[in-house]
Amino acid sequence: MHLLSTSIEYLKGVGPTRSELLKNELSIFTFEDLLYHFPFRYIDKTKFYKISELSHDMSYVQIKAKVISIEEKGHKRSRRLIVRVQEDNSLLELVWFKGIKWIHNSLKINTEYIFFGKPSLYGGKLNIAHPEIDIIDQSNSALSSLQPVYPSTEKLNSRGLTSRNISKLIRTLLDVIELQIEETLSELMIKRLNLPTRKKSLLDIHFPLNYRDLKRAKKRLKFEEFFFLQLHLIKIRKSRKIKFKGYSLNKIGPFFNHFYNNILPFNLTNAQKRVIKEIRIDVKKNQQMNRLLQGDVGSGKTLVALLSMLIAIDNNYQACLMAPTEILAQQHFDTISKFLREQNITVELLTGSTKNKDRKQLLQNLEDGNINLLIGTHALLEDKVLFNNLAFVVIDEQHRFGVAQRAKLWRKNINPPHVLVMTATPIPRTLSMTIYGDLDVSIIDELPPGRKPVKTIWKTDSSRLQIIQFIKDQIKIGRQIYIVFPLIDESEKLDYKNLIEGFNSIQREFPLPDFQVSVVHGKMNSEDKEYEMNRFVKGTTNIMVATTAIEVGVDVPNASVMIIESAERFGLSQLHQLRGRVGRGSNQSYCLLVSGNKLSSHAKTRLSTMVETNDGFKISEVDLKLRGPGDMMSTKQSGILDFKIADLIADSKILDFARKEAEKILLEDFNLEKVENINIARVYRPYARKRLGWSSIS
Ligand code: ADP
Ligand code: MG
Repeated sequence: MHLLSTSIEYLKGVGPTRSELLKNELSIFTFEDLLYHFPFRYIDKTKFYKISELSHDMSYVQIKAKVISIEEKGHKRSRRLIVRVQEDNSLLELVWFKGIKWIHNSLKINTEYIFFGKPSLYGGKLNIAHPEIDIIDQSNSALSSLQPVYPSTEKLNSRGLTSRNISKLIRTLLDVIELQIEETLSELMIKRLNLPTRKKSLLDIHFPLNYRDLKRAKKRLKFEEFFFLQLHLIKIRKSRKIKFKGYSLNKIGPFFNHFYNNILPFNLTNAQKRVIKEIRIDVKKNQQMNRLLQGDVGSGKTLVALLSMLIAIDNNYQACLMAPTEILAQQHFDTISKFLREQNITVELLTGSTKNKDRKQLLQNLEDGNINLLIGTHALLEDKVLFNNLAFVVIDEQHRFGVAQRAKLWRKNINPPHVLVMTATPIPRTLSMTIYGDLDVSIIDELPPGRKPVKTIWKTDSSRLQIIQFIKDQIKIGRQIYIVFPLIDESEKLDYKNLIEGFNSIQREFPLPDFQVSVVHGKMNSEDKEYEMNRFVKGTTNIMVATTAIEVGVDVPNASVMIIESAERFGLSQLHQLRGRVGRGSNQSYCLLVSGNKLSSHAKTRLSTMVETNDGFKISEVDLKLRGPGDMMSTKQSGILDFKIADLIADSKILDFARKEAEKILLEDFNLEKVENINIARVYRPYARKRLGWSSIS
């Protein structure tokens, strides 16, 4: 057995009791677990604060001060030790509730010590509870000026496993195993990339001599984590390409050409053309395409999807388009059927509310190959939905779907169809390749010409009258207005009440016959929804009161004002999606964010980000920082993205760099057989075995 897998119990200074604690509290079972229990910060031992500089909102500080009095006060449960210390002319109280005797005996009046702790306010006075104490000893000036601080817990602290004692255990551990810390990268790489060795990095991350060493150690350890993951992803992708034959869609035929030359009402943007070319090249090959299309709201992704699906139909295959909401599926169906009206292409719609009788017929036709293009919602995923020869799948607004749902569409044919997932919630390239297993990325980075940026204004509830006047003015000049209420979870009663109250008060403010108001929410049946939606699309109603049911995709170019009520309750990408509903025509459009007065700092950041920028990529970046990638992507997959030290967002540069290195190594030595890659191969094999099975996602 490898020394590193030794149970933690057998480390000198641990034993059975402490080992139980380490297991339960910190999940440290083995030597290796302890080795990878990294400090979460370091105290700069050269930095001292003056007592006069302290305030209660500081985190941990270090002071040097003289003890002037020691007193034990109170009794039994309220018993405490108060130590007054002085530095220059300032006084500070230190207080202990535990270990009173011991502390009392170890401190001497009129002697200077170093104290370390977190200042807090008690009865209007600053004090520090349970500070750590250091003796000032010139000869003992530690080698390292950076003292590690380890994540610990209340329970561990009270049982003597303080950060400091954990640090001692790690010191002991490093003495025992130092010689056994093996290199995991190749010598060549280490030299070429100027990285510290693994051994030095592990020593330095626990006991750095200076910030420079610490920084280099962290970088190396992060790199290593990303590097092996990227190796794995690239290998999976390659083997998938070999394993799954794609449908070769090699001709562009009459459907595509007719649409492109005679029906398409405008020129494609250069970005749209480029992406279609990328897709064409991909589907011509005998390999399955797995592609993510990122493009800001309103960039025209739907057309790219339609043209791609027409290629499949030209090659006598079926295609399908899945949207996250019924409203959006309906709308795609309307637009696309209209576009294809003149051609002999059968387009059908399948959603949760398709009538049973119609559904039966539809499913039969689908299986018989009488339907060329199926548009729908999650309903497409049901096992009963069988295609005749599905070769191309589009998933719109994929951030609304989970990984498992996407995988389901994959299995709708013997060979998986080509998959195009579209999103207006862009994330950096390497990050998306990492999160979605592995896929190619296309980007539409250009909006159709003539769009005016939406003006975004943030108002509080007190500006209501002003807002109403603004709406009236806009309606007078012929515009249409969205007013959106939060209904995060459609079952939330309170939200529902707010929506209905909002609707009622809007009807009072905007009475018939001068104004027409529509309402759409999740509790309505789909016929009513469609009816209301259509009234708005046709311009019969001036105002659409809605929930986030209209968040994604909906396209009504004449609507030029988006008012978002309780805007603080929406996530950033939701706000951006909602704003994307306006600014689609040639009129100046507005987005009004209406919020309460008391906001959390995250909410403030979200709203001010919306005011500052219209750029989906920037918004996405802020959103990632606020929320983290797992939350955002609904890809909390079996620990695959759990890193010990690396962070997908904060360390995105290292991630890119690790990706490039992995590509380079595999290009030269795909099977890791070269002598120089022997270390990498040794680590990679068990790594890959552990992660087998996590591959056919996206
Ligand atoms: P999204 O990328 O948000 O899904 P859509 O596909 O809904 O955007 O397109 C938004 C609007 O822009 C639609 O009304 C569409 O017809 C229009 N559009 C798409 N491409 C172009 C283009 N090249 N020129 C002009 N208008 C376009
Ligand atoms: Mg869209």
